[in-house]
Amino acid sequence: MTEKLLEIYHRLLDCYRPQHWWPADSPFEVIIGAILTQSAAWSNVEKAIHNLKARDVLSVQALLQLPVEELARLVYPCGYYHAKARKIKSFVEWLAKAYAGDLTALFAHDVSLLRRELLLLPGIGEETADSIILYAARKPIFVIDAYTRRIVRRLGLAPDVYSYGGFQDLFMRHLPPDEALFNEYHALLVRHGKETCRKTALCERCCLAPLCPAAGAR
Ligand code: SF4
Repeated sequence: MTEKLLEIYHRLLDCYRPQHWWPADSPFEVIIGAILTQSAAWSNVEKAIHNLKARDVLSVQALLQLPVEELARLVYPCGYYHAKARKIKSFVEWLAKAYAGDLTALFAHDVSLLRRELLLLPGIGEETADSIILYAARKPIFVIDAYTRRIVRRLGLAPDVYSYGGFQDLFMRHLPPDEALFNEYHALLVRHGKETCRKTALCERCCLAPLCPAAGAR
């Protein structure tokens, strides 16, 4: 399995080249983006982040001061803006109280404790927590999303336990715990899921076709 997963990775990397994720100027911006991207297209997240930067409130202290209604207006482009504003407020209030607003102190935890801490917060599910751990804290954990599930399933590698943890185990049990590898691999899967292994798959131009049992059927 290790060999197969690495072959998939290298084929994707040859095809798409490095993706340079996460597109953000700071770990804090990664966290805000990870919350905003829930059920939202990235282009809309960019608009919301732009609004936050233009208003100069993309920091823990500024977001603590900002009324939640105004925050909701700024993140409106992402949809579910009232809920997302509340999630962001909850996060910064918790960070201020538990860690004096210091991300370095939060990120000093090991992966499992950090994950437990994040999953206790309202509105932070597994994908969001793992995105924060991988792309903001820069620690090795594999992020699973809908693109990854679809590609893995079509490649005939879906785990027996069809759950977030089942898919995550597939990668984490068979690959070295390498943050740079997990970063690039997930970014490449997202690119592949958006451009080629779409709902209607474009198998005729797919770099994974020689490995894929679904290729002939599509
Ligand atoms: S061959 Fe088709 S189904 Fe298989 S990974 Fe490529 S695009 Fe997806």
